[in-house]
Amino acid sequence: MYPKSEAAFAKASAVIPGGVNSPVRAFKAVNAKPIFIEKGEGALLFDVDGNEYVDYIGSWGPHLLGHAHPAIIEAVVEAAKRSTSFGAPTIAETTLAELLVEALPSVDQVRLVNSGTEAAMSAIRLARGFTGRDLIIKFAGCYHGHADCMLIAAGSGALTHGKPSSAGVPAGTVADTIVLPYNDLAAVEEAFKLHGTKIAGIILEPVAGNMGCIVPQRGYLEGLRAITEKHGSMLIFDEVMTGFRVAWGGAQRVFEITPDITVLGKVIGGGMPLAAFGARQEIMDCLSPVGSVYQAGTLSGNPVATAAGYAALSTIKADPKFYDRLEVLGARLAHGLEEAAREVEIDAHITRFGSMITIFFRKGPVLNVDDANASDMDRFGRFHAEMLKRGVYLPPAQYEAWFISGAHTFEMIDATIAAAKDALQVVKKN
Ligand code: PMP
Repeated sequence: MYPKSEAAFAKASAVIPGGVNSPVRAFKAVNAKPIFIEKGEGALLFDVDGNEYVDYIGSWGPHLLGHAHPAIIEAVVEAAKRSTSFGAPTIAETTLAELLVEALPSVDQVRLVNSGTEAAMSAIRLARGFTGRDLIIKFAGCYHGHADCMLIAAGSGALTHGKPSSAGVPAGTVADTIVLPYNDLAAVEEAFKLHGTKIAGIILEPVAGNMGCIVPQRGYLEGLRAITEKHGSMLIFDEVMTGFRVAWGGAQRVFEITPDITVLGKVIGGGMPLAAFGARQEIMDCLSPVGSVYQAGTLSGNPVATAAGYAALSTIKADPKFYDRLEVLGARLAHGLEEAAREVEIDAHITRFGSMITIFFRKGPVLNVDDANASDMDRFGRFHAEMLKRGVYLPPAQYEAWFISGAHTFEMIDATIAAAKDALQVVKKN
């Protein structure tokens, strides 16, 4: 079924480590080999072997409008004709920044960067620079890119300082990162009791997507806001995944929480390398060239990426029903999957927030990474392969959220549910 992909992977593996430019693409977590993609069209993907799929990865989140949306393509082509980079200010950067600031009441200013990793890393430096403190709390299972200080092993126990989860990260770099379980306010209170005056901030995904989709429990985000406010620490919402996906303006608009610093990426770049971080004026005033927190980038605010991002966001904004439709599609898929699992009598728990969905192969609830870890990963791998055979392209790991786009149709959702029913039956047998 995938001979050309297999050949392409063998060739790639000779010159690219593991044959991929980002590890999860290697399909290792599902014991398979990657599919090489030829093109995308709306919610559809076509591989080099001529197979067609309904895509639930959407480039890992950016394609909220689907692949090759005409407005984005046109904007990219027009911008590229005027040059792919200047390294000098353009009016388009201000226009995009204005749109982001308007959408996010917590943000007075944004700085544009190239990746979510860079945005999160810069947000942490800014929190430390603003507060003059070093410690950062992160939650096990939340991903904030691969900056050294965020690469911390999960589960090292509440209140213990983290150990690096990657070779090449000095222990000293993560010594100032405290790892706590998600959805556990008491652990955060305890950490602040012990270290309160030294904690620069808490960084989290307000709805987690990197341990599968995990939703914050009622009162959790409010609790984090209250604790950080009391101790003069920064609350950093990493909305790289949730920003403009779960709502216009992101999870902070849904939960009505005002974080101190916001990290954005994915959707705001329309599929091009663009991310951002922003905050209220007094915090952003700390950034160079105004303040003393250094941050820079040769390609930051790149004109082609900026044009793609603006085209994506203005297209979404122009459709007042956009998020309502995503919600309906998401609910339909989640209910369909629940019903399929019930019918086939397989243990499964489906979590969903808007257009982010995960099927965990275990009984619920799933509130943190330990719960996610207790899923049947082997079963997920087999399910993934069966879905692929049936033309459904799912993220190749239990720990990922599936993404629905505005280009998905009810027919596609229903076909996916039918495929899942079949796939679950096969998976249950072996
Ligand atoms: N933060 C979150 C919440 C993410 O989901 C990701 C990427 N999946 C990142 C940061 C890192 O972004 P990037 O891959 O663009 O560096």
